[in-house]
Amino acid sequence: MLTTEVAVIGGGIQGAGVAQAAAAAGYDVMVFEKSGWGGATSSSSSKLIHGGLRYLESGDIKLVYENLKERALLLRNAPSLVKRTPFHIPVYKNSSRPSWQIYVGLLLYRLLARFSRTSEFHRLDPRAWRYLDSLKLDDLRAVFQYWDAQTDDRLLTRAVIKSAMDLGAKAFCPAELIKGERLEDGYKLLLTVKGKPVYCHAKTVVNAAGPWVNEVQERLSLPKAEMILVRGSHIVIPGTLVKGIYYLQSPIDNRPMFAMPWRDSILVGTTETEHSGALDSIAASPEEIDYLQRSFAHYFPDKSIEVLESFAGLRVLPTGADSTNRRSRETRLVTDLDNKADDHSNGTAKQAKEKTAAMPRALAIYGGKLTGFRLTGEKVIDRLRPTLGERDPVADTTSLTIKSA
Ligand SMILES: Cc1cc2nc3c(=O)[nH]c(=O)nc-3n(C[C@H](O)[C@H](O)[C@H](O)COP(=O)(O)OP(=O)(O)OC[C@H]3O[C@@H](n4cnc5c(N)ncnc54)[C@H](O)[C@@H]3O)c2cc1C
Repeated sequence: MLTTEVAVIGGGIQGAGVAQAAAAAGYDVMVFEKSGWGGATSSSSSKLIHGGLRYLESGDIKLVYENLKERALLLRNAPSLVKRTPFHIPVYKNSSRPSWQIYVGLLLYRLLARFSRTSEFHRLDPRAWRYLDSLKLDDLRAVFQYWDAQTDDRLLTRAVIKSAMDLGAKAFCPAELIKGERLEDGYKLLLTVKGKPVYCHAKTVVNAAGPWVNEVQERLSLPKAEMILVRGSHIVIPGTLVKGIYYLQSPIDNRPMFAMPWRDSILVGTTETEHSGALDSIAASPEEIDYLQRSFAHYFPDKSIEVLESFAGLRVLPTGADSTNRRSRETRLVTDLDNKADDHSNGTAKQAKEKTAAMPRALAIYGGKLTGFRLTGEKVIDRLRPTLGERDPVADTTSLTIKSA
């Protein structure tokens, strides 16, 4: 029987971030991943380390502020994995956002990034337009250049797992959580580790299973939060974009999208399609591939749109009436007590909260951004600290160097 203070289910970026934060805080931590480190959503993202300029429009100021801070930390702490990259926003005669709106957005973005070097932006001189990777010039009215950062999401996840292991975390893969039983002092978990059944006694459990979060809640006999899964697809096409990333508006439905240099090719994404099928083999649909090809060709008519590769990932988003691209990207942390606290059958919700607020045993992570993994990890450990007890920290995640694994 294994024993640990924190058992993390899922070895994507969020599970890696929790393992790192737990180990840095001085706790015993084990992380279990069923298929491959960073092999699911955390290798199918747009690979941007950013505040998320477009989330300003949906009023997610706190999210943008926090992620801009995380961007700054990653640029400093993971320089081999996170690179400062120029972004270009072309504004055409028919663009739905006029130049002044882009300008105001970038100004606010800069303010939230506390005027750091990476938050500089400017309007390009029209004489420079023709050097922009053969971008369509007809009806072009302005081009703004600003800075964010790019990474290799899978390598970043592996590097964070490695950093957690260097601090004492134990990592198991392939290791799948099958079932969890609540005990007085934590959870008894049944896992298959390299095909063999293994039991683990965990003082606390963190469900970082990404799109599988509700499946894992079920396996832990915990209530499931409401959510939807939204598929985002990318295509890789031949060619290069030497000037950096282009932040475009799809001519098909006006959604924002990116075209970016990726290894020796071009990565184009993404889409937003509600997903209801199986979770284990997510792929871009022919319609999504066509949408991305046509959107890219509109702006770069001289470039090839032959598809070399395509991939898709699932966003975990809250349910709601807004269109999916306006739903909050905030991370939701739900503990076993949050559910009890909502239960009015045994006294008032306030009493239930007061009675149990101190000792959560299980916590599930819903949604969130790649960029914010460190802060999410810290927030998770803060929520579990009353149960785990105080410890002398081993390291400070704000200054830990993260190197390629
Ligand atoms: C299309 C798209 C584009 C995105 N672009 C960006 C971006 O540019 N920048 C950004 O900051 N964020 C971006 N995001 C968000 C970011 O990618 C995700 O928030 C992040 O990768 C989610 O990580 P995760 O660890 O929660 O999930 P995952 O990476 O999916 O990890 C969950 C892991 O849990 C494992 N697992 C599941 N069940 C079990 C079990 N029973 N036992 C053991 N292991 C289990 C799975 O195998 C998986 O590896 C994007 C998301 C999508 C979908």
